[in-house]
Amino acid sequence: MKIFTSLVALAFSTSSMASSPMIEESFRVNQVSPELFNIIKHRPELIIDHVKDGSFELYGPKGLSAFLNKNHVQFSALETQSLIQRSKYPTPEEIEKDLKAISIKFPAITKLYSIGKSTKNRDLWVIKLSKNAKTDDSRPEFKFVANMHGDEIVGREVMVRFIKECTENYGKDPRITNLLDKFQIHILVSMNPDGAAVSTRANAQQIDLNRDFPDFSTADNQDISTNRAPETQAVMKWQSDHKFRLSANFHGGAEVINYPWDTIPDKFANEDKIKDISLEYAHNAPYIAASTTFENGITNGFAWYEVNGGMQDWSIYYRKDLQVTIELSDTKWPDYSKVDYYYEQNRTALMGFIERIETL
Ligand SMILES: [Zn+2]
Repeated sequence: MKIFTSLVALAFSTSSMASSPMIEESFRVNQVSPELFNIIKHRPELIIDHVKDGSFELYGPKGLSAFLNKNHVQFSALETQSLIQRSKYPTPEEIEKDLKAISIKFPAITKLYSIGKSTKNRDLWVIKLSKNAKTDDSRPEFKFVANMHGDEIVGREVMVRFIKECTENYGKDPRITNLLDKFQIHILVSMNPDGAAVSTRANAQQIDLNRDFPDFSTADNQDISTNRAPETQAVMKWQSDHKFRLSANFHGGAEVINYPWDTIPDKFANEDKIKDISLEYAHNAPYIAASTTFENGITNGFAWYEVNGGMQDWSIYYRKDLQVTIELSDTKWPDYSKVDYYYEQNRTALMGFIERIETL
């Protein structure tokens, strides 16, 4: 009962009853009792992430540290990046400049468009890579989304490198030429540029975008975009404008391919196929397949930890767009000199993944 009382106090300390949890305090929590873990798991204002060997990241409103102290839980600050380390990465404005330069240099095979504005009024840029990119046609539509957690930066960098490789080698490399001839590939390099600018998980409203989508297993189960973050609304609208059938969503903090469902323990109807696609990705990105934490570098989402309001399950359930969550790097914000390594490790896996749209 002591635990319960503390949690009620915690719940009352939140400033609003918004449907999406606010991130005002964040920690890595060490071992807790199964009872307490279960209670934390069911508090809508708390977010568990990246469970590993009994410890996990925990995000929540003001009062979280007081609550943990009251319950004698051991916790520590999350790793943060030094300003020097952060400053080696491009700013969102530099990324924007890069994308604009690419789209001007390769007008026939790119279309750069904004799907909306972030909380701080930054454009959410998508680059489409395809033959005759300016015209949308009936070829299969594919998408990548990176950096919805602002402090998980490797996905954004991998995407920019992928865009450069595809545009510079179209017409020269047969595999890349084939990809752009056959498919319409849309890439949102940073869903959370405001978070990326200051290296925070949440958007500028302190909302965790990967807990902000409609969820068929919770009370927030209507596929409508009102009362959500502007970044979430933009993605929902974007997905209404296109017929994406396969997509991936990049994160960091682990190295694994996470397949549906995240929000319920039930077996996914198409599990054999999505597992096969996930295994193939991990196999083509050897450091992921070599994981000592996840067998063959893949995991079922719910078996790892439950996520409510995630983009992956929303995308699949409401929009028939099969999506996996790809965790690219154990370190969320590695030294910038390591980014090329991650790209090299993932480049053929990315191509193979897009090609799988033909096997669905
Ligand atoms: Zn993430």
